[in-house]
Amino acid sequence: MWTGSNSKDLKVLNRLLVRDMIRKLGPIARYEIARETGLTPSTVTVIVAELLEAGVIKEVGHGESSGGRRPILLELNPRAAHVFAIRIQRGELVTAIFDLAKNILAERHYQLDTSVPEEVVGAIGASFEELIQESKVNPDTVLWCGVACPGLVSSHKGIVERSSNLGWLRVPLSALISKRLGGLPVHVENISNAAALAEKEYGLGRGHNHLVFINLSVGIGAGLLADGEIYGGAKGYAGEIGHMTLLADNGPLCACGRRGCFEAVCGVRAVLERAKAVIPEEAFLEHGISKGKLTITHLTSSPLAAYPEAQKLIGETGHYIGILVANLVNLLNPETIILGGELSTLGGSLLRAVEAEVEKRTLEEIQRTVGIQISNMRGSAPLMGAYALALERIFSLEEWDVRRAQAAFEYEITG
Ligand SMILES: [Zn+2]
Repeated sequence: MWTGSNSKDLKVLNRLLVRDMIRKLGPIARYEIARETGLTPSTVTVIVAELLEAGVIKEVGHGESSGGRRPILLELNPRAAHVFAIRIQRGELVTAIFDLAKNILAERHYQLDTSVPEEVVGAIGASFEELIQESKVNPDTVLWCGVACPGLVSSHKGIVERSSNLGWLRVPLSALISKRLGGLPVHVENISNAAALAEKEYGLGRGHNHLVFINLSVGIGAGLLADGEIYGGAKGYAGEIGHMTLLADNGPLCACGRRGCFEAVCGVRAVLERAKAVIPEEAFLEHGISKGKLTITHLTSSPLAAYPEAQKLIGETGHYIGILVANLVNLLNPETIILGGELSTLGGSLLRAVEAEVEKRTLEEIQRTVGIQISNMRGSAPLMGAYALALERIFSLEEWDVRRAQAAFEYEITG
């Protein structure tokens, strides 16, 4: 990133080094920073004083004495900067303000009855203002916005090239959101990729470098991590597993316009349609549940969960998802497969059906080393991934002020 080596560059690099050391190892004493970084104690003292002055770090009590005075410990000030994170899905928008220690300070869930890009962006803008009010965060300290969005996403250009579920074609989402938020830098990532990164960073995937996150929602997609990095293929579009073919002949119509895709058979909409058809009419009438408002939650909670038809449907759904998972296990030999999205809330019965299929359809040696789990991430994996991606960008900035973040962003979209 830096090619020069004059004293100004060196000073910046040293400051970043000290800040990252405090971020990763804090609470930490000054002498430990000097030992870890190889900088002289006096250099560390000067940099720490600057970072304290800027409010980037803070003092947090005393450590153990090693003979002399007890050293003062330092840690990153989690409120020194903030992230605005967004998860977009068909019918649903989730927004949140995070601090630097992954705490959600304020959060909003919206039913989204439009997928017109300008209207979605309008809702995002309005929610930002509400969240700022509620969290009492100074908007100038919100340095980056991370977005997890379904579809084929060109992250470096900030464009959603295609989302069949949102009905989007070449939507410049980063630019639209950034404009609505007064120039705030925005990073957009595919929803499943964002989730896979979040699981590796904070969730069930910690310690795993070969990981697949499957988002089982209205759409079905996968985030693939190979050797710890997102596997994006030639253009970054890999993982569109929802449009792999399950039924080659006369399958149901998919949002992509083709027939027989996994998504058309075991996506949320398909499962709900089957639920409406197989669960007896009396069940809906007796319990006052409107078929038009049926959700996946209804299938796992009383009274509908008690109907054998609901249980059978969950088993069938697990059977189809299991075929999909087994194909991925054979193809990728992952260490772990994490199921997320609405359908993963079908829980243990779904998981058992998936595992049974994987056992039936994969080679023993590959199967033995793969764990299949249901995501348990608070705040949902895609939202956490959007946060993690924005956070990464914030920590690449040398100074934490909005103007500089904006300058870096302009470089990012034009460069
Ligand atoms: Zn399709």
